[in-house]
Formats: sequence, structure tokens, C-alpha cells
Amino acid sequence: MFATDDTIVAIATPAGRGALGVIRVSGPRALDIVRTISSRRRALEPRRATLTRIVTASGVSSSGAADSVVATYFKAPHSYTGDDVVELSAHGSPVILRGIVHAAIGAGARLARPGEFTLRAFLAGRIDLVQAEAVADLIASATPLQARVAFDQLEGTLTDRIAALDATLFDVIARLEASLDFPDEGYHFIDQEETQRRLRDVTHGIDSLLEDSRRGRIVRDGATVVLAGRPNVGKSSLFNVLAGTDRAIVTDVPGTTRDLVTEPIDVNGIAVTLVDTAGARQAHDVVEREGVVRGERARGVADLILVVVDRSETLSPDDHRLLDETASSKRLIVANKGDLSRQLTLDGSLVVSATTGEGIDRLRCAIAAELVGEESRRETPAVTNLRHISLLQEARGCLDRAVTALTVAQAPEEFLLAELHAARARFDEVVGVRTSDDVLTHIFEKFCIGK
Ligand code: GDP
Repeated sequence: MFATDDTIVAIATPAGRGALGVIRVSGPRALDIVRTISSRRRALEPRRATLTRIVTASGVSSSGAADSVVATYFKAPHSYTGDDVVELSAHGSPVILRGIVHAAIGAGARLARPGEFTLRAFLAGRIDLVQAEAVADLIASATPLQARVAFDQLEGTLTDRIAALDATLFDVIARLEASLDFPDEGYHFIDQEETQRRLRDVTHGIDSLLEDSRRGRIVRDGATVVLAGRPNVGKSSLFNVLAGTDRAIVTDVPGTTRDLVTEPIDVNGIAVTLVDTAGARQAHDVVEREGVVRGERARGVADLILVVVDRSETLSPDDHRLLDETASSKRLIVANKGDLSRQLTLDGSLVVSATTGEGIDRLRCAIAAELVGEESRRETPAVTNLRHISLLQEARGCLDRAVTALTVAQAPEEFLLAELHAARARFDEVVGVRTSDDVLTHIFEKFCIGK
């Protein structure tokens, strides 16, 4: 279904103007096509940047030259896609870049589909599927932490972990099958106890990857952090300080924030959607009531709730109710107005002042720590991708059934083997050894053209 025998072309740099723009040509005719549209008659040498001119049909200068470019030829299989690739570095004007792409198409190239260069790299075995997905994540990363996690996956740390689990499974399967093949010898290549132990090792390996996946998802996709508190404790002021904007309306009239206000912010490398809610109190009118309901809903889906109280006042019934309601949620208690005289001491609360900025850096660190823990000290690669998570969960399910069959049900070994093979198939799917065309299309169509 995926043609790889033709030659594709696309602009690889973002839309808009820049000092440089790069065009990628990949496929068996890449060299030919570039020769046709350039003034250089001799073939390009591999890995050597060569200055040449591109001549397009609408040539902009009297000589018919659209632009001088630096052409670099990467000879198959030593290129990003594994095909012959020529990269043309031109001046970064959309007109010039489009002109060159049209010229290449005129000379026999086809415009690449989204993600097609990376798809070819995958199909040629240059990278596995986890790495291909990491390319998309790396390009999409908005914070340095997201970039680091994506880069780890590009380097193959997750692939290595899965390969190690798979190798254990493979060994168990091989020995069980050998025992089945030579039943008469009465010799078991692996006994029940060892089988169980090795399968538990694999299960634990999967569990530790899955445990980290919540953290990984938050790093990759961001988290929702909701400010909650009765009116006038300073939620909107904190929102503005954390967001560095004046989006939320601050007044000393209680009940002014009636709808949800959201702002994407970077909290120590984590992409956070910060949500300011209407003050949690018995509402005075219909609009405020609706605002309070929306606030409750937002708290329901929050990855973290910041319960804000006013340190310069004693706790009110509304404060008590909110503290009770959020007791079992992931929350931080923030004692605001730390610059005023203290009326309240609350264990485990973080003292801040939205007015003076005191404690705000500590609050940021606390938010990050609640969401992802001490990310920088982690050694395990984070599983960030929902596709990987659900495949690992399925593999876990197969292993559970296998262990049950072994220990409880006294099921025949064939049953056990079927589950183990099924678990390996899930591992294969993560890295893309067996992945249907539909899944591949779905993954790669989310890329932009030229990647
Ligand atoms: P909200 O209703 O919880 O969103 O509270 P606001 O952010 O609108 O703040 C209510 C009032 O408290 C405003 O007059 C703010 O200026 C004031 N305020 C907010 N934070 C602080 C603080 O840290 N210190 C002091 N002194 N006043 C604050």
C-alpha cells in the first residue's frame, strides 16, 4: 500500500520566510531530478555540500536561475529515509521554495505526503516505530523537558527496554516449546518454578514502564491545573502571576470570576493548562451558580488542584467544605496573602503572596513535583504515547492469563504458549515489527509535510 519506489519532494522547513529554506528530495531518481533542474552537469558527490543553481520554469532572473542553493547528496542507504536523498538549502522565501518544488515535480518527483520521509525511514528499517513517533513528538515539543523525553525515545531507550523484556519471553517460549517437542525424554528444559519467575520479571518490567506512563503522558501532553477556593482568596491574582498575564479579572468584589479562564503556561518544563474557576461558595445568582458548577466540573478532570485559602483570615465554612471535597484528589493547599498578618496556620500548606511574588517559585516547583516527581533524576524511559501504553497493558493481560494458566488452572502448555506469543506480538506492535497499514497511516498522517 505504501509506494517507496518513486521519488518524493517537499519543503522541510516551516512555512514562512527565513534565512534558509530546505527542500528534501528522496527516492531512486533524486540525483537525476536535481541534475535536471540544476545548472550543475556533473553528478553530486555524496556528503559534500555543493553550490549550484536551480533553474525553474518561471526562472526569476534573466539567466533563468531561480536561486543558488547548496545541494547535499546522501547516498542510499546512508540517508534519513534509506533512499538516495538530496537536500537543497535555498534562500528561505516561500516563492523560491515553491518554485523549486514545482521544478522537481516537473522533472518527475511527486509531492510527499505528510510524514512520508519518516515513513520511508521506518519502512527501510532505519528507525523503528517508537522512534518515528518520537520524531513527531520532538518536532511538536514545546518545552525542553518534552524535547528531552522525545529525544530519549528517538535514541531508542524505550525500544531497548522492550527488547530486553521480549528477549526473556522469547527464551521462555523456546524452552517450553523444546519441552513440548521432546515429551518422551521426560526432560523439561524449563520447570514451572523458573517459568513463573521469569514471567514475573517481565510483568514487573511492564509494570514499571506503565507506572511511569502517567508522568510520561503529562510531560508529552501537558496537565490541567485548576485553581479552586472561595471568592476573594486571590485565585485570579495567582492565576495572573503564574501565567504572567492579566487575563483573569481581579477585583475585591467577591464572585467576579464566573466562567473558566484558561491559559497555557510552562511550569518548570511541563506544559500546564492553568484554569481559574469561579469562587467555590453558595452562589448568589444564576450566572454565578453556573460558574460554580463549571468550576466543580473542572476540578473533576484536573491533574492537580490548587486549593487556595486566605492566610489573613480564619477558615470559613466554604473553605472547610472545599478542603473536605478535595481531600482525596491530587492537590496542593496554597495559603495566599502571606504578606498580610497571619490568622491561619494550615499544616502542609504553601505560603505565597500573589501581590509580592513571595513563594511563587516554590509553588512552581511544588506543582512540577506533584505532577511528574523528580523528573530530572529518573532513569526509566517514560512511556508517553497512548498507543504504547495500551499495547503494554494488553501484553500485561496476556502474561497474567499465562501465569494463571500455569499456577491455578493446570491448563495445557499450548494454552500458556498461545498467551506468551500474544504478549510478544504486542511488543512487536509497539516497535512496529508487525503493524497494520491502517495504524501506520494513522500515525504518519499526523506529521506535517516534509518530515
Ligand atoms: P479571587 O476572587 O479568589 O479570584 O481573588 P482575586 O484574585 O480577585 O483577589 C481578591 C482581592 O485580594 C483583590 O483585591 C486582590 O488584590 C487581593 N489579593 C490577592 N492576592 C493577594 C496577596 O497575596 N496579598 C494581598 N495583600 N492581597 C491580595
